[in-house]
Amino acid sequence: MRFDIITIFPDFFSGIFGNGVVKRALANGLIQVDVHDLRNFTHDRHRTVDDRPFGGGEGMVLKPEPLVEAVESLGVAPKSERNASHESVILLSAQGAGFRQATARELAKLERVVLICGRYEGVDERVNELICDRELSIGDYVLSGGELGAAVIVDATMRLLPGVLGNEASSTFESFGHDDAELAKDAEGPPRSTHGSGGLLDYPHYTRPAEFRGLNVPEVLAGGDHAAIRKWRRERALEKTLRNRPDLLVNAELSCEDRAFLEKLTRATA
Ligand code: SAH
Repeated sequence: MRFDIITIFPDFFSGIFGNGVVKRALANGLIQVDVHDLRNFTHDRHRTVDDRPFGGGEGMVLKPEPLVEAVESLGVAPKSERNASHESVILLSAQGAGFRQATARELAKLERVVLICGRYEGVDERVNELICDRELSIGDYVLSGGELGAAVIVDATMRLLPGVLGNEASSTFESFGHDDAELAKDAEGPPRSTHGSGGLLDYPHYTRPAEFRGLNVPEVLAGGDHAAIRKWRRERALEKTLRNRPDLLVNAELSCEDRAFLEKLTRATA
């Protein structure tokens, strides 16, 4: 899969993809990330990329010509043919639709994703209309530029590609896990993050030492009782989701036992 990032700060990305899973995926040729300097698509002596806003107001706005030229130079299909070409041109924007795990799964099916990083007050809206397929926001806060958002999207998307993570199951059985609820229902074999997925947050993880600063690893995890471990993990995932992200419970796949457990928790804290 290929990612193209258009930015006025290409150096921003020199370290960010140089570690861990992304670095390995790049080295193995599973992904390609090309960073393009927007200023290379200007034609004046000052390499101007921004201008004052029509209608007044503070700040500067990224001009449309360099951005449109930059995207056109990449050889992606015109906007009307993008679905068939398995390409998408995305504008990073605080006004965009929320980027979610489900969005990452959608993007991971594509062959090529172009990410446009805004700066200043934002990007001339005609760039969005003429060449972008969607506007995405990485969260309800305002960043100073789209670069961090682009890095977030590359990271979350590429780790879903076949072969990128050592263990395929890792990306299925985790927080915001797979839509396919059936995958989260297996009851055989060693318990895995299965019980943190299906729309819930992941359960808490522990490794050695068994005792650390007076805190012991929960006893059930040290025993070999798989059914007991599953139950414990499921309950901790429910507990954590109720505490930190109760909104996720609305769409989570919940069994009767899950609901009863949640009711008990809610009563206990009421
Ligand atoms: N005036 C805009 C904010 C501009 S911030 C507003 O109020 O909506 C400058 C650039 O940072 C944006 O063009 C966008 O590319 C990026 N950016 C800011 N917040 C973002 C977010 N939450 N998600 C993705 N990109 C963001």
